[in-house]
Amino acid sequence: MKILRFQKDNNEAVGILKNRMVYEVSSESRIVPQIGSCPELGNSHSLDEVKILPPVYPSKVVCVGLNYRDHAKELDMELPDEPVLFLKPPTTVIGHDEAIIYPPESRQVDYEAELAVVVGQTAHKILPEDVPEFIAGYSVLNDVTARDLQQKDGQWTRAKSFDTFCPLGPWMEAEMDPANQKISMHVNGELRQDSNTRNMIFPVEELFSFISHIMTLNPGDVIATGTPPGVGQLQVGDVAEATVEGVGTLSNPVK
Ligand code: MG
Repeated sequence: MKILRFQKDNNEAVGILKNRMVYEVSSESRIVPQIGSCPELGNSHSLDEVKILPPVYPSKVVCVGLNYRDHAKELDMELPDEPVLFLKPPTTVIGHDEAIIYPPESRQVDYEAELAVVVGQTAHKILPEDVPEFIAGYSVLNDVTARDLQQKDGQWTRAKSFDTFCPLGPWMEAEMDPANQKISMHVNGELRQDSNTRNMIFPVEELFSFISHIMTLNPGDVIATGTPPGVGQLQVGDVAEATVEGVGTLSNPVK
């Protein structure tokens, strides 16, 4: 089930997406759509008639550094013993079709296609086997990075945190096997990244558990699970399209 947050006639609403139609539902939460027991309201719209919003409003986006075996091989790096974590502030999040703004401070802005995990309920010190019940769904994320500033600063906050550096969407898929989905990035229609989530070093349940032992995860928080090989640069005028097989394609122009 694909759950969409959208704007129509200046009103924000949540809907279920079926065959490019959006069926409005009442949501149990403004932060993360939880619609298990909520009925359809009867209003429906063509997907082309609504403005797609980010699927959730995270209090934090927790990201993982190197997490694909094929990416580690590409970089000739050893596999890490533990996930390397960093944060993106919630002010980085934009939705499908919104513009990534190329900051004047950087000369190298890179794309990174990633599977996003959306937290469904407050999670603190959760065992891997209990993780699935704490996940609301999955989305697509582009971990946009000012690579030159990442290398210059030695730590990653500035490079990862410019406004608009976290495209997220276009919607959330509530039921999906996160362990076997194709993941790709096209820039201006050209394939740049092409892998599968089965190449993750730390699978979703392990990552989620690891993070939850460090910080409490709130409903709507997002975990970005790392990027496969083929990371490269974006230029002003480009269109970045990140795809996760079971979710869909997240498209964002660069301005
Ligand atoms: Mg990344």
